[in-house]
Amino acid sequence: MTMKRLFFLLTVCTFLSSCADAQFLKKMLKKADEINLLTIEQEMDLGKKVKSEIESDAKKYPILPEKGNEKVYAYVRGITQKILNSGKVANKDVFAWEVKIINDDKTLNAFCTPGGYIYVYTGLIKFLDSEDQLAGVMGHEIAHAAQRHTGRSITQAYGLNILLTLLTGNSTKQSVQLTKQITASIVGLKFSRNHESEADEHSVIYLCPGNYNAAGAAGFFKKMQDKSGAPPEFLSTHPDPKNRIKDIEERAKAMGCTGTTTNSEEYSRMKKLLK
Ligand SMILES: [Zn+2]
Repeated sequence: MTMKRLFFLLTVCTFLSSCADAQFLKKMLKKADEINLLTIEQEMDLGKKVKSEIESDAKKYPILPEKGNEKVYAYVRGITQKILNSGKVANKDVFAWEVKIINDDKTLNAFCTPGGYIYVYTGLIKFLDSEDQLAGVMGHEIAHAAQRHTGRSITQAYGLNILLTLLTGNSTKQSVQLTKQITASIVGLKFSRNHESEADEHSVIYLCPGNYNAAGAAGFFKKMQDKSGAPPEFLSTHPDPKNRIKDIEERAKAMGCTGTTTNSEEYSRMKKLLK
């Protein structure tokens, strides 16, 4: 059954309670976060729109200038390249995998739009202690795009409306409004539990073939636990950090990952370059 047919049946069955497919549809709905109505091309197009939305709002998303920050950019982009070189990232040759740094020390966050536009906050870079930790978090964010979680979440949130609106072109009021809404939801990281666990798992899968400590992402959650005060909003909706640390470490062990590289010294030198 195609996804379009599934949604068509779902609409019909909402009105006909005796629909023969009702049971089947109920089961399918439990797996709703696996359905993606967007094509790869639509995700890439949406990613470009979100990117331009982000980069035209310097107040909300102050992009760190490339000039004067060449070494920091090279370092963070180098991490992305190592992750892509693992050979484990889906859509590696299709998506953009561009990296920009957002100059905001108060925000402990990173995110990746559909189509692979990656944004890392200076707050996150400064908060972490070593390169494997940042690689772990970036691997997690890259996984959301590579595994097309964004398209799947948007499908769940907006359903058929997205297809209709996105197909009407770029300039309609509705399309602009929808892109704004989607941008806000992507930056807010409203992924399902399943998607979060899958992204954690892929972070290990990406880091394992290289020299990194493959459980780098666990370092981020450990630091978050140690931090006093309330966790950032995006973390409170994620699965329990304790379970995530355990799952990430167990996954790395089960996969037989032997890398131990943390590059702590290089990392702290890079951090000092950020004023
Ligand atoms: Zn996530």
